[in-house]
Formats: sequence, C-alpha cells, structure tokens
Amino acid sequence: MTAFGIDLGTTKSCIAYVDDAGHPVVIRTAPSVVYFERKDSVVVGAAAKNAALLAPDLAVQLVKRQMGRKDADYAFHGTRYTPESISALILKELAAAAERRLGHPVRDVVITVPAYFGVAERQATRQAAEIAGLNALDVLAEPVAAALSGPPAEGVRHLLVYDLGGGTFDISVIRVDGVDASVICTDGDHRLGGADWDARIRAYLLEAFAEQHPGLVPTADEVFMQDLWIKAEQLKEELSSAPTRDKDLRFAGAVARVELTRRRLEELTADLLDRTMKITQETVERARRHGVTEFDEVVLVGGMTRLPAVAARLEELLGRTPRHHEPDLAVVRGAAMFALARQSRQADRLGITAAEAESMRSRRVTTVIPRGFGVRVLDHNDPLARTDPMRARTYVIHLLPAGTRLPADSGPVTFTTVLDDQPVIEVEVWEQSGRDSSEELADNTLIGRGKLRDLPPELPKGTPIHITFFMGETGLLTVHAVEPVSGRELRFDLQIGGLDQAAVDKAKTAVARHDISS
Ligand code: ADP
Ligand code: MG
Repeated sequence: MTAFGIDLGTTKSCIAYVDDAGHPVVIRTAPSVVYFERKDSVVVGAAAKNAALLAPDLAVQLVKRQMGRKDADYAFHGTRYTPESISALILKELAAAAERRLGHPVRDVVITVPAYFGVAERQATRQAAEIAGLNALDVLAEPVAAALSGPPAEGVRHLLVYDLGGGTFDISVIRVDGVDASVICTDGDHRLGGADWDARIRAYLLEAFAEQHPGLVPTADEVFMQDLWIKAEQLKEELSSAPTRDKDLRFAGAVARVELTRRRLEELTADLLDRTMKITQETVERARRHGVTEFDEVVLVGGMTRLPAVAARLEELLGRTPRHHEPDLAVVRGAAMFALARQSRQADRLGITAAEAESMRSRRVTTVIPRGFGVRVLDHNDPLARTDPMRARTYVIHLLPAGTRLPADSGPVTFTTVLDDQPVIEVEVWEQSGRDSSEELADNTLIGRGKLRDLPPELPKGTPIHITFFMGETGLLTVHAVEPVSGRELRFDLQIGGLDQAAVDKAKTAVARHDISS
C-alpha cells in the first residue's frame, strides 16, 4: 500500500506520494481551515476559508498553534473538540482526496512538524493521525523534509532552510550525512508570516479607497471587508510574478481602482522582511558556534518565499543563490519521499535502481528532544542548605539535555538526600521552557512528580540516590529512582503531551461520525 507524506501547515496543508517512476506527486493542497457548518458536518479547505470570513465563530484557523496544549479546546453545535481532533478533520479531508485519486484506502502517513515542536506537540500530531484513522509511520521536522526533497548528494552537507509561511517564520540549519539528517539549530518568529504582509496591503487599499471616495466609510461592511481580505492576498501573490497589478474596490455604488507595484509592496513590508533577515543572521552566527561555517545549500520553503525580494535579500546576506523550486511544496515532497523510505518494502516496485532504493530505505532521521528534561535539586553552595534546607535555593539539573537523540537513556545519575533520617524523597520532573537551557526554576516547567517513600530509618544525609530518565520516541518518559542499599525504588511514567488513550478513542469515534466536505 502506498505511504503518503502530509504537510499539516499552519495556514495550508498538502498530501503527496511518490509514483511508480519515483517522482513525488502532490495530490491536494488546501487551506488549514475547518468550518463547522452543522452538527457532525464540517467543511475543510478553501470553502471553509471563505465561510470563515463571514462566520468566524464557526471556523477554526491556525489550530497548529494549539497543538499539544492541554488547555486548548473548542465547542461547536454542542460538541467539544481538541486541537488534535480538529487537525484530524483536516487530515481526513486530505486522505479522502488521495483515496479518490488513487482508488484505494490511505493508511500509512508521515506528517511533518516544525523543528521547534517539542515532544508534546509531536505526540499530539501522532494522535491527530490516530483520530483520523491513519497510521503515522513517523513525524518529521519540516526543514528536514525540505532538505530531503532535493537530489541526494554524497558526504556531509549543511543546509540553511528559510521557511516563510502564512503565519510563521522558521529558520533551521540541517546536517545531512549520507543517510542521516538532523536539525543543528533552529529559530524563528511564530507570529510572523504572510498574514502580516496581507494586513499591510489591506491598510494600503483602504487608504487608497478613502482618497478616491473621501465621503464613504466601507469598513463596517462585512462583504466589502471580506472582499478586501481576498484581494489583498491575491495582490500579494500576483506581485510575485508581475511588477504591477490593480484591483477594483466596490462599495455603495462607488468604485476605486487601486494600483500596487511590487516595489511599493516591498517598501510597505520592508521591516517585516528585515525581521526575518535579522533572525537568519543570528542563526548563521549560532551555527558557526556549532562549527558550521559554510552552507552547501540555502533552501527556500513556504509560499511567501515566492516573493522575489526574499531570495534577493538572502543572496545579499549570504552571498549565494538559494534553491528555489516550488517552495510551498518542498516539505510535502520530502515527506512523501521519507514515507516511501520508511515503508521499505514499497521500494521494490519502484522503477529505480537497487542502489537508489537502498539509499532511500536507509535514510534515517534522528529525533532529538528540543527542550531538556531534569529534576529539581538543592543548591549545596547556598549556606542555607546546611542550616535550613527547605528554604535554600533549588535549581534544575537536566538529565536529558536539549538535543539528546531519542530513544534516550540518561543512565543512573547520583543525587543525595538532604536531611538525616529523611523518610521520603520527592522527585520533581521539570522541562526546559525557553529556547536556551537554564538551571533556573523560572526557565523550566514542572511537569510531574513522584515520591520515593519508606526509606529505611537512620539514613544519614548525603545518602546516594540514583535517578534514571528514559524517553522513547513517542515521548513517554520513564523515571526511575532507587536507594541502592535498601533497594527501595520508585518508577513512574509521564506521557509528555498528548491525550490519554481513552480520549483518543472517543475522539476517533466522534470524528468518524462527521461528514467532511471540501
Ligand atoms: P504554511 O504557513 O501553512 O506552511 P505556506 O508555506 O503554503 O503555508 O504559505 C502560505 C503563505 O504563502 C500565504 O500567506 C500565501 O498568501 C503565501 N503565498 C502563496 N503563494 C504565494 C505567491 N505566489 N506569492 C507570494 N505569497 C504567496
Ligand atoms: Mg509550512
């Protein structure tokens, strides 16, 4: 059975597969918008995006920003939805399009996620697939997928992947070593994307309308405003290939013809592009500190990189011409190729050489934890530690630092008791919250705790306790603590993010009941 790649994007999603000749084929792209038309009846895609302009309360957009958050939920027509189940509705629509095209059921998929997604968001993405009745072979970082979408090359290569989409900007440094691909560093602005360019164009159009018809105030008119949203995005997209374009704005019998040139658009949005370039430059410097001094390739990803100004500015900054081939499809094409590789038995029926099949099969992608996990410990350098340990400074030691490959095993790390005759040890598990690793409590989040009880009496303070963290690829963290002399131990699991199985099963039944149209 064919395996598919899915780019589950913030504003746009796509599904693709690799055909018998070994070429990735994109079957469908659709806006990531779900419109809750009636109970158990939803619309997904372009029609939903239009419907959302007039009835925003019945639509969900940008659900990707909520993935993995346990406090995010939605309700429509008396039914509750999680970000996972809303994403599942999008996945189902894409899968249905693929089923119609190929005439057989879709089951195995590889779904892409941003490189900065932590274990929680990745697990939520896997569960969205499960709720949609799909089998996620893997979740794959978007810049890695984009890197894999290019022709295979020999040796160690470093790629800079610049991804400017509808609502987010991501910049990543990827290392590809023959069969192995990993993210070296990543940064971005998750509140910066095409929507900000659109907003500038709308303001420009409104101003131009007001100049031509000073007496009219169209902004309270819903239909006018809906049209303005659509025309602003159209203008932006058209100006990627044309130097100038005009649009007619109509209100109350009046018409304003407004012209926008590419040059004017670039002026109106220069500060937005500047922000991406600043982050890019910082990331290039960070990569240098990681020993990456040169890039073998600069890869453009995301619909917004079709604006000629993007490649021009990057070339100015980096002194090289970026790879620029259907940038909004690079991620899904790479995901489809990776899905094929994951499903090795498929390679046999491809019209490709044995060596090519083998090289695809063996392409591995390493999952690393983007944020560290650790325990809270007492600071023995704080004088209070001796006199009043309960009030002394505590901090976090990361047993699994950011960047650790999964599956990961910290091995036993030795800590000590802080009081004489201490009967109980509380093991608190903390996850790094910021981009940079820090031992301060304020830069970490408490995500779970357990108690090692009934320690034997008369243990002196300073008695060693061994703690081990193990994390599997799905983000299940197993914590083990043992007092080696008595053998008293504590073991507990924390699922980092995601829903529990009962909630997944329930959502699966609920989503299956929905009639999904596009
Ligand atoms: P996502 O953010 O979901 O990953 P994309 O990478 O497809 O989605 O980016 C969508 C953004 O790209 C939208 O803001 C869209 O207007 C913009 N876009 C698409 N095509 C073009 C184009 N030809 N020129 C400029 N912008 C474009
Ligand atoms: Mg994208």
